[in-house]
Amino acid sequence: MLVASRMWLLLALLAGACAAAQTPQRSLAGELFIVDSGHGVRYPDGRPLNVGAVGPDGIGEARVTLAIAEALARRLRSAGAKVVLTRSFAHPFRIATDLRKDNRARAALANRLHATAFVSIHADASLDSAKRGTSVFWLRPNSVRLARAVRARLAPLALGESEFHRRDLAVTNEAVVPAILVEVGFVSNPRQERLLAMRSFQQREAQALFDAIAQVFGA
Ligand SMILES: [Zn+2]
Repeated sequence: MLVASRMWLLLALLAGACAAAQTPQRSLAGELFIVDSGHGVRYPDGRPLNVGAVGPDGIGEARVTLAIAEALARRLRSAGAKVVLTRSFAHPFRIATDLRKDNRARAALANRLHATAFVSIHADASLDSAKRGTSVFWLRPNSVRLARAVRARLAPLALGESEFHRRDLAVTNEAVVPAILVEVGFVSNPRQERLLAMRSFQQREAQALFDAIAQVFGA
């Protein structure tokens, strides 16, 4: 019995090694990505912090998007890319008086640094608590490949799809480098809010975004 189980373990290890060998990680060395986690804006005049959408259980968009952005940045860096986060665990807030101008500034940073791509991460909300799904928006033709790849990689997460189309947003309008805005699910939907609050699910979202980026920009 012991020998047999050892044999199985060996076979399982070999199978794992083969699976790993079949999917080598693509390198993103030399690439620079701006990963933008939506919201998290403090106003100098003392208005309440802009946390974006808030779900029925109190899960805020700003917190979810920051966790996914950090997890994505970790993956990109381990594939050799440079990453600039517009918010980070170390600096979770931005200071601004005007949200639209602040969103433009986030995308302008990507232009200024000649980034490979700009990825803005948001979470959605609706008055209809049944509304669900992810969305991907882009504006310029140079962003279509990334938008399609992100859409395809998000599909297995089974959140459904809300929207997928060109859209003139502050970030997609400002960015001249490939740029997308992704809504990673609805915090207003109780089931999706629960998922989005889970660290393990945030990692799956980050992995999906990473796989899409590696597919489009990896070598
Ligand atoms: Zn948002």
